[in-house]
Amino acid sequence: MSTTAILSALPEEQRGLIEQLVHPVAIHRAGRVFWRGELVGRPVVLALSKIGKVAAATTATTLIEAFGVARIVFTGVAGGVGPGVVVGDAVVATGFVQHDLDASPLFPRYEVPLYDRRQFDCDGALTAILLEATCAALVRARGQFGQKFKRERPVVHAGLIASGDRFVSSAIESRCLLDGLKDVGLAPLAVEMEGAAVAQVCHDYGVPFAAVRTISDCADDQAPQDFSRFVREVASPCARAIVQNLMPMLL
Ligand code: SAH
Repeated sequence: MSTTAILSALPEEQRGLIEQLVHPVAIHRAGRVFWRGELVGRPVVLALSKIGKVAAATTATTLIEAFGVARIVFTGVAGGVGPGVVVGDAVVATGFVQHDLDASPLFPRYEVPLYDRRQFDCDGALTAILLEATCAALVRARGQFGQKFKRERPVVHAGLIASGDRFVSSAIESRCLLDGLKDVGLAPLAVEMEGAAVAQVCHDYGVPFAAVRTISDCADDQAPQDFSRFVREVASPCARAIVQNLMPMLL
């Protein structure tokens, strides 16, 4: 059976997954620890992307080159910026753009030079099952964490996610970022710091990629407080529930 890589950005997000790992083996490579084992009877490698695009690209490349993974799934947290995207919701990515990439006037703003594109799409089939796994997990999480969510029923959204090497933590910053992307017809639902890099590496290698981010904050002035609390109390169990649902759906 082919191996699935499960990527997390933060140790708190990964903790619940390591606890569930059967026959765990820790392998040190590229200054990172990779956890080989089985989840729900499926071979997996768990890894931390670390924070930011370069770190995430190194992790993704190592997963493909050294561990030969057949697909990469990212579970993490993000700031919600789309209409109606609030703390406790989840966004399953359909594609990624780098909101801080600007090689203009040599290339159009946001275009990845020499790739002739602004956006890297996620794998359709893998994304469809991740969406299903996330919906099922959040229905369950609602019972468990009802008090901590802004609304009674967290919503699972699907759409574009914007990545950049910046923790977006003010309403003004958020607005500028969205306005710039809107000018070229892009409307992300969430911002985070790693996904676009992993999407690009997976594109380079032809490896299917899918990503889900639970919304820890709204990328506004309240973001640092919302973020810490959410990661501590909710992110880890959510990631675990999503991955547990996903595993049996994989071939
Ligand atoms: N406090 C952490 C740093 C977190 S950086 C530490 O000290 O280790 C934020 C992480 O959450 C990144 O992995 C990023 O992908 C995601 N994220 C959540 N909310 C975000 C926001 N508003 N802007 C950018 N990234 C965000």
